[in-house]
Amino acid sequence: MVQWEVYDGGLDEFPWWWVALENVQLLVYWGVGFLGMYWLKAGAWPVASIVYAAFIVVVVGIALKKHNCSTCYYYGRWCHLGWGKLAAMMFARDAGNRDFGAKLSIAYPLIAFIPPLAMAVSLVIEFRTVVLVCLVVYLAWGMAQFAMRKRSCARCRIRYSCGGSAAGKAAE
Ligand code: SF4
Repeated sequence: MVQWEVYDGGLDEFPWWWVALENVQLLVYWGVGFLGMYWLKAGAWPVASIVYAAFIVVVVGIALKKHNCSTCYYYGRWCHLGWGKLAAMMFARDAGNRDFGAKLSIAYPLIAFIPPLAMAVSLVIEFRTVVLVCLVVYLAWGMAQFAMRKRSCARCRIRYSCGGSAAGKAAE
């Protein structure tokens, strides 16, 4: 089991409303990304949106639950997204390979940056107001989401030892 440097000012379990709010925020973010890429089609199929959704399900929903969350301090606990609980329902503690999980975390920036690029391509191919609106909402929502994530990382028990912390090193 990993020995974490534990931040005393962090939360052992996040409150339900925090978990709910952050999940809604994340699902809206992904949903806008899905919609914005919808017109990048192959025949009748919105392939970009389908690949995006499948990637999130397989990599974030399964692989990262195993390789990151099963080895995390929050395994079995309500982390800010509830993923510690989810991982405990899916995998045994330390079922994953932490080094591989760290490499797999490249998925997060990919998931964040591919939709706006794809939406820009979609707009060049054919301008649609709905795609432009999705792009603007996606970018604004992404900034709000990053602000929320920083707040979550600032209250995280492992903020000083997690490579993905958005809170920086300064104590709150
Ligand atoms: S520091 Fe941030 S990214 Fe790392 S486990 Fe905590 S909440 Fe998650």
